[in-house]
Amino acid sequence: MPVHSLTHPLAAHILTHLRDQTTKPATFRTLAYQLSLLLAIESTRDIETDKKRIQTPLEPMEARVLARQPLVVVPILRAGLGMVQPFTDIFPDVSVGYVGLERDHETARPRNYYCKLPPLAGRHVFVVDPMLATGGSAVQALTVVKQHGATDVRLVCIVSAPEGVAEVEKYHPGTAIHTAALDRELNARKYILPGLGDFGDRLYGT
Ligand code: URA
Repeated sequence: MPVHSLTHPLAAHILTHLRDQTTKPATFRTLAYQLSLLLAIESTRDIETDKKRIQTPLEPMEARVLARQPLVVVPILRAGLGMVQPFTDIFPDVSVGYVGLERDHETARPRNYYCKLPPLAGRHVFVVDPMLATGGSAVQALTVVKQHGATDVRLVCIVSAPEGVAEVEKYHPGTAIHTAALDRELNARKYILPGLGDFGDRLYGT
């Protein structure tokens, strides 16, 4: 399973403050933005570029620009919204799709209550969800985007649990997971340990 962990010292520094229970929502949002920006850069390391001839003030040169193959970022509502802006800030042609999942009280499985997606075929699709815990939502979101034509899908998370990674590998083998941290385990209430608590609550101060 290709799990790519951020190893940059700045990522470790930001994550420490994100985990710290004394960090207030306003700072938490800034830190989540900064870490997601590093993840956006890392998870797009292999996207294609085209040659472009330009003229610098001193001489002509053959330079490189991003190829025209728009990226699509798909947050899983609601916490995934906190990871979208870095992608839209740095990539000129990014589109945003949305997948809303909630727990079905009958089956205890994630149910898709909202889905708004741009065309996905032939595009690099980044499903973003800050906490990969049991993996249930990630598996369902990956299924939904594939049903809508995505063939190149990556999962981008801030903190991941081994249980979630295993679940994704079970149902979507080979999916690349980009994460800032691979933590120890889930507790009985399915929170990640050591984790950072409830990401959505800390992001929105709820
Ligand atoms: N979702 C969260 O916000 N935190 C966890 O630890 C697990 C899932």
